[in-house]
Amino acid sequence: MATLFEKIATGAIAAEILYRDDRCMVLRDIAPKAPLHLLIVPLQPIPSLAAANDGDGPLLGHLLTVTRKMGEQFSQKADYRVVINCGAAAGQTVPHLHIHLLAGRDFAWPPG
Ligand code: 5GP
Repeated sequence: MATLFEKIATGAIAAEILYRDDRCMVLRDIAPKAPLHLLIVPLQPIPSLAAANDGDGPLLGHLLTVTRKMGEQFSQKADYRVVINCGAAAGQTVPHLHIHLLAGRDFAWPPG
């Protein structure tokens, strides 16, 4: 059973994809929690960060590098927040690893 993000990657479900390479894609969140809310998603359907293994290190590094570049490109030099929800109790709703990039407003700490 393909994950939501696999269906978006193949075009079966529409989304606004801002960037794509051989390992990941970047799309706008359908229910943005900030003026800018992007999702950085590996094409490989790793269920969560907890399910990644040591061999996924280069991919995880690539995802963070793409996140940084998206921050530079889309946050207009403002500060931004990067989030990975890992597991249902932490707020993860889509079982396919993804990084949230949020910007365009101030953020409280600690998060809820
Ligand atoms: P999670 O809660 O797993 O950390 O994040 C999943 C994110 O996917 C949520 O912020 C949610 O709004 C977003 N999302 C859920 N369904 C869709 C969809 O069909 N399209 C897009 N672009 N984002 C989605």
